[in-house]
Amino acid sequence: MMRARWSRAARTVSLVSRVFATCLLALTHIGCQNGECRDGLSLVWISLDTLRADHLSLHGHARETTPFLDALAREGAYVDWAVAPQSSTLPVHVTQFTGIHPVVHGVMHATNNPGVRLRDAVRTLPEVLRQQGFVNRAWVDGGQMDGSFGFERGFESYDDTFTPFPRKLAQSIAALGELRPDDRFFHFIQTYEIHSPYAPPPAYVRRFVTEGERSGATASMDRYDGSIRFADDAIRSYVARLEAAGWRGRTVIVVTGDHGESFAEYGVPAVGHHARLLRQNLTRVPWIVSHPSEALRGRVVAFAGLQDFANTTLALLGVDERMRGGGRAIFDDAPPDTAAYVSWAGPGAWSIYRGGLHYLESDTPGPARNGLFDVARDPLEHARLEGDPREAEMAALLGAERQRLLAAAERQQAGLREQGTLSEALGDQLRALGYAVDPEDAEGHAPGSSSPSAPPVAP
Ligand SMILES: [Zn+2]
Repeated sequence: MMRARWSRAARTVSLVSRVFATCLLALTHIGCQNGECRDGLSLVWISLDTLRADHLSLHGHARETTPFLDALAREGAYVDWAVAPQSSTLPVHVTQFTGIHPVVHGVMHATNNPGVRLRDAVRTLPEVLRQQGFVNRAWVDGGQMDGSFGFERGFESYDDTFTPFPRKLAQSIAALGELRPDDRFFHFIQTYEIHSPYAPPPAYVRRFVTEGERSGATASMDRYDGSIRFADDAIRSYVARLEAAGWRGRTVIVVTGDHGESFAEYGVPAVGHHARLLRQNLTRVPWIVSHPSEALRGRVVAFAGLQDFANTTLALLGVDERMRGGGRAIFDDAPPDTAAYVSWAGPGAWSIYRGGLHYLESDTPGPARNGLFDVARDPLEHARLEGDPREAEMAALLGAERQRLLAAAERQQAGLREQGTLSEALGDQLRALGYAVDPEDAEGHAPGSSSPSAPPVAP
């Protein structure tokens, strides 16, 4: 009996505490009414480098790689087809920070432009948020995410030390302890945990190993999937800690990939993401949003591009300012399935998505390098649509978009990027990650430093 009474008393105290906590939370939720809640929110953006969308169970992968991210997406919102504008870390993140397409900003890391950086005059997402009063901190894995490229602007601290993903997440949680209850924060966490050499802890290395003969590429894919599951479990634990710390109900959590990865598919023998054949394995990435607002629950945007990332994120946070570089707020603005999204891997390697169609052109030698795919029905691009009248339409659309982007690059690029010198230490770090700092390994050239008028490959 005594135990029951104490138990009831404990429950009463617990209930009072919860009501008190809810009231406190309500006070900090300036704009949470009628299911809408966009003011007073904080932001966690987790960038899972090299994560291709079709390897999430959310997007139909046969292995259960992402049970937590699947739930986060289904209880929140996600983009079904989020298109990466390049297949390289640095230019894609610059696009996410500014809304400017890589063809236009030209911040590519290649031999032709070592030490390239975004000019200080170009406003970035963290700078906008800092001006809004956010406390910004970043934990990234260096290499192409080195702060010197222009990423560190707007952050109170930008830690680009290569460290395990769970440690970065723990650092983010620890930093919450420095905040005052009415602070807003932006934590940016980027990791190469899923990137080659695909080396998660041993239990995850073994998790998706299939029996029988495995080639180098398919064995790599097994470990890649293990790395994804490791990241998913780490995020599950992180979100639980965010909740325990009292921030979950007023924090927007966004998870994205920056580009995909190829495991010797579509006739390209290489493993990696430097191929100049922009099939879905390189260009379709996840984009998941967990938002306290009821209004966003269950929202699925059919198509969007990562150039929409900055303006979408500002809108999700209730910030009125928009990046001038471009991109729409995809949950608020005109239906994105009418828009076209271009990916680019240097002159001669382009692709365009519109609606449920994907059309690509590539100068990579080999059969069937150009063509049209109905990704709405054939998401893994098994069957090229031969002789489809829409192919000429998509080729013309790509031609027009290419000219528009290259013209914008000619006009604007000098104001967007500048050349510095690449430090020896960073050069070594980039080589270790397999990135392009050697002539034969260049993964993309900025239009200003190569040939903007390089002839396109005929469809
Ligand atoms: Zn990357």
